[in-house]
Amino acid sequence: MLKPESFIAGAWIAPGAAATSVIGPVSATQIALAGGSALDTDAMLAHARQVGGPALRALTFHDRAKILKKLALYIDSRKEELYAINGLTGATRRDGGVDIEGGIGTLFVYASKGRSGLPDSHVYVDGEVEQLGRSGAFLGQHIATPLQGVAVHINAFNFPVWGMLEKLAPTLLAGVPAIVKPATQTCYLTEACFRMIIESGLLPEGAVQLIIGRTGDLLDKMGPQDVVSFTGSADTAMMLRNTPALIRNSTRFMSEQDSLNASILGPDADVDSPEFALFLKEAVTEITTKAGQKCTAMRRLLVPAHLADTVAAALADRLGQITVGHPDADGVRMGALASLSQKSDVLAKAAQIGTEARMICGSLDGFQPVDASPEAAFIPPTLFQCDDPDAAKIIHEVEAFGPVSTILPYRDTAHAAELANRGEGSLVASVFTHDPQVAREITLSSAAWHGRLYINNRDTGREATGHGAPMPHMIHGGPGRAGGGEELGGVRGVMHYMQRTAIQGTPEIISAITGQWIKGAPEKSNPTHPFQRTFTEIEIGETIHTDPRTITMDDIEHFAHFTGDTFYAHMDEDAAKRNPFFPGRVAHGYLLLSFAAGLFVEPNEGPVLANTGLNGLSFQKPVSAGDSIKVRLTCKRKTKRTDTYGEVAWNVTLTNQDGDQVAEYELLTMVSYDR
Ligand code: NDP
Repeated sequence: MLKPESFIAGAWIAPGAAATSVIGPVSATQIALAGGSALDTDAMLAHARQVGGPALRALTFHDRAKILKKLALYIDSRKEELYAINGLTGATRRDGGVDIEGGIGTLFVYASKGRSGLPDSHVYVDGEVEQLGRSGAFLGQHIATPLQGVAVHINAFNFPVWGMLEKLAPTLLAGVPAIVKPATQTCYLTEACFRMIIESGLLPEGAVQLIIGRTGDLLDKMGPQDVVSFTGSADTAMMLRNTPALIRNSTRFMSEQDSLNASILGPDADVDSPEFALFLKEAVTEITTKAGQKCTAMRRLLVPAHLADTVAAALADRLGQITVGHPDADGVRMGALASLSQKSDVLAKAAQIGTEARMICGSLDGFQPVDASPEAAFIPPTLFQCDDPDAAKIIHEVEAFGPVSTILPYRDTAHAAELANRGEGSLVASVFTHDPQVAREITLSSAAWHGRLYINNRDTGREATGHGAPMPHMIHGGPGRAGGGEELGGVRGVMHYMQRTAIQGTPEIISAITGQWIKGAPEKSNPTHPFQRTFTEIEIGETIHTDPRTITMDDIEHFAHFTGDTFYAHMDEDAAKRNPFFPGRVAHGYLLLSFAAGLFVEPNEGPVLANTGLNGLSFQKPVSAGDSIKVRLTCKRKTKRTDTYGEVAWNVTLTNQDGDQVAEYELLTMVSYDR
């Protein structure tokens, strides 16, 4: 008997007298005791807000990203312990992979996004500086800093590991402590993974806590700096969303709930097309993976009307070959639903769907799974076909959260999009088309109703990630019925746990807050050329001003013939004059860049290892023969990249003999920590 424990304020708490008995979906007998102990929610919140939060916020984004990476490696090294109990949830090993490897993969992606998309500091700079006055003495800048409360994660039963890790990764990266509350039915698997997180010793005290069982009065104590992030049913979401404390304090509430996801076989796909084959393959995967208990699964299959029967026959044939039974038995492709109550719920909802559609394959009245009892939580893949999707209502409203899907015929692209939108907001919709125009038409009429649009065809090869796979790089969530929330999406997901603030002040003040030099902030000088200084020695604001260099017509001629860039504006005085941008022949922009490098570099071997790129290059004023340019080079920001070197971004401006700026860019260099 499993006895998963809560982890509250640094202590493990065993199931109490009022524990819930968890009935296994495969054995139909009790497999775990969960929850039922009194919770000291005040202590829990204080521990998170006063211990975990400050400890996390003391770290930089990069420190936290490194922890996520180590955590991913640690869990990966112990994942077989998770697979060992995965089968108890009804999931096959392959299903477990989606959950366990998917969760670990999400940590890896966030570790990487944290280091590439966030600074090695405590303030995220959001967008460009806004000049609010004429001279630039008073500026605006958006920044984001971690919320100072706690994130409460309420998770669904279907992904006990991924569900926890996909919410923890952006939360911890933001610097916010979390209280995780898994669904009771599969909480023992979440607890096993959570225990690994604690045993890894990688996170600061108070960064994570776990509630097995119910949350008691926790949500009544949510404050203005807290976040509740929920995955589950629309009814529970609505109830929780209306908790007075959440409304009173404008506590952020993110919800990911029911979704009648549509998949559209494009009008251009005939039975012999690769898109037809891809559609069938993915539909079978979506109906059977995790026994269809995926919030992103295809619930409505939209096909051109003349192909509806063909698709129905082909899918019925393939679904009929899926072996359903004990998740650990040989040859089993589909396991059980997560609980006996889910089974009754899915059967009841499938029966409702059956009032508007014919059953093509499957069964709602009993079924013999391989190596398991018919009383356990198994149902076979069940496919319906609806002949009048316009008149249908239930099919667009009722989510049977299991291996159940319905084929709907459509007339044309506009009709397909209209039917997809009848889901009233979904997490994902997919289109299988080789025609970019079809993809565009459906996107324009439908994107606003879906959190993600997945478009697959013969050209994606093996790289398409799958209709139902939320990728950590892309947002996961959707409007309307899907909850109106957003998760993941790389750095976007981190922002849900941070506060965006508009700061206004002088360049010096803004530069001090963000840790990045901006124009107008004080410059620093040093007797040694910055290219002879190590990453550590270089200071934000450190600047050199070069001597001027005069551009001659010979320079322009030489550069043109040397590079082959004999564009008329550089070579033909009359033609250049006819061009509204130029006074006559002008120097190449690239010539100016090359001369700029010649002016600011320090040629001797030193800590600067390489020039790795330019950002935001703009040429603002033409330069003619006889003009002279000089360069200002200022250290704008520094970012650690590896254990031996980091990236230094320099603001570079070129000005002419009149002091007018002619070009500007951001130069990126890799600089060693040592000399
Ligand atoms: P629920 O909405 O009942 O549960 C989701 C989570 O909310 C669970 O952790 C649950 O805990 C918790 N919860 C329920 N009531 C409260 C409460 N009063 N206070 C705090 N937490 C609470 O969904 P189910 O898991 O039962 O699934 C029901 C249906 O939801 C499915 O059939 C499916 O239609 C949909 N669903 C959608 C998902 C999605 O990702 N879009 C995922 C899973 C389900 P506990 O387990 O202890 O009750």
